[in-house]
Amino acid sequence: MEKIKMNVPLVEMDGDEMTRIIWQYIKDILLHPYIDLKTEYYDLGLEKRDETNDQITVDAAMATKKYGVAVKCATITPNAQRVEEYNLKEMWKSPNGTIRAILDGTVFRAPIVVKGITPLVSTWKKPITIARHAYGDIYRNVEQRVEGPGKAELLFTDANGQETRQTIFDFEDKGILMGMYNLDSSISNFARTCFNFALDTKQDLWFSTKDTISKKYDHTFKDIFEEIYEEEYKEKFEEAGLEYFYTLIDDAVARVIRSEGGYIWACKNYDGDVMSDMVATAFGSLAMMTSVLVSPDGKYEYEAAHGTVTRHYYRHLKGEETSTNSMATIFAWTGALRKRGELDGLDDLVQFANQLEEASLKTIESGIMTKDLALLSNLTNIKTVNTKEFLEEVKKTLDEIRS
Ligand code: NAP
Ligand code: MG
Repeated sequence: MEKIKMNVPLVEMDGDEMTRIIWQYIKDILLHPYIDLKTEYYDLGLEKRDETNDQITVDAAMATKKYGVAVKCATITPNAQRVEEYNLKEMWKSPNGTIRAILDGTVFRAPIVVKGITPLVSTWKKPITIARHAYGDIYRNVEQRVEGPGKAELLFTDANGQETRQTIFDFEDKGILMGMYNLDSSISNFARTCFNFALDTKQDLWFSTKDTISKKYDHTFKDIFEEIYEEEYKEKFEEAGLEYFYTLIDDAVARVIRSEGGYIWACKNYDGDVMSDMVATAFGSLAMMTSVLVSPDGKYEYEAAHGTVTRHYYRHLKGEETSTNSMATIFAWTGALRKRGELDGLDDLVQFANQLEEASLKTIESGIMTKDLALLSNLTNIKTVNTKEFLEEVKKTLDEIRS
């Protein structure tokens, strides 16, 4: 069969450790044989980031702005131990943080659902996608220990020097204090990205905050979403048969647990941080979580939600066998290839992405899986395979589907 052609390159961001090994396997076993793969390659491996003073990360983000679709391998976010291990010039910032700041995007995380791995919440049948507003709130707070009696005030001085002052609390004893903020522009971008993503993936959108208690802060989130929905998206949602609905976070939690899934749940920064871990755990495995960063002007960066699986990598280096799950990384590639295909009108590329996802799911549902899933699966005919064997099995299934 002739290889599938691409017109516009994907921005390819390579990464670190075990996921870097998997990255190459996926390309060699599942992509190159079928696609005339066109990528603009950026090596975000820690060595290259150090060598380029992290310029490579900025370049990769700028390329994503230019071309519109990127696929990223997991990368090490250095800490003190990594600075020593890799003899780094500096403790470079998280690549994901850098890319997110440049694209001003929202992260959507969704689990890959397969038969045989039952979510801990028995009603969940379809994936729940969490959209987390990744800007401001307590992640950019200013806080203080209060060491004794005193008055805490909220003081805002506008550009003309005009002051508004409110008492927060009259302390009679020790305590704690915090200030935080957000921006209408960032909330509006978040709202538009969520509405667009809902239309794009044909799913309902839920949004929740604590507006009954926080009558200005959280209420502003609610109002901005409502205004943008009414003015820009209501008709489009109705045409698509989709629903936008706002509810109090407490009510949302109750509804999510009773739901069967299949929608996007937009959350404020902290709620999204907590709820995405809850949803990931309840769906079964971090190794089955996909993640896509979407910018307000419609640029996409696909990746796995997990890290570089360091423990497996050290085993791999010692020549020991590993059984690392490549599903989320495969789905990062299929997500990116499908989006590229849609944007460029390449039906065969879209079809290939769908077939590769189908083949991956079928392989696991036939009982062939990596160790992490074997421990969770309730299938009876399980065959546990190593990292590379799993990809070879997916290839066999893919060839059957394509023949
Ligand atoms: P991790 O790489 O996600 O791995 C944590 C543990 O989860 C693994 O040791 C493994 O458990 C299990 N696991 C995760 N993914 C798996 C997979 N695909 N297949 C099988 N098991 C899997 O998190 P980490 O160890 O905390 O972080 C390692 C490095 O990744 C760090 O340097 C961190 O900075 C980086 N990181 C990067 C990203 C990103 O690029 N988006 C995200 C998170 C972390 P067992 O060992 O018990 O088998
Ligand atoms: Mg978290």
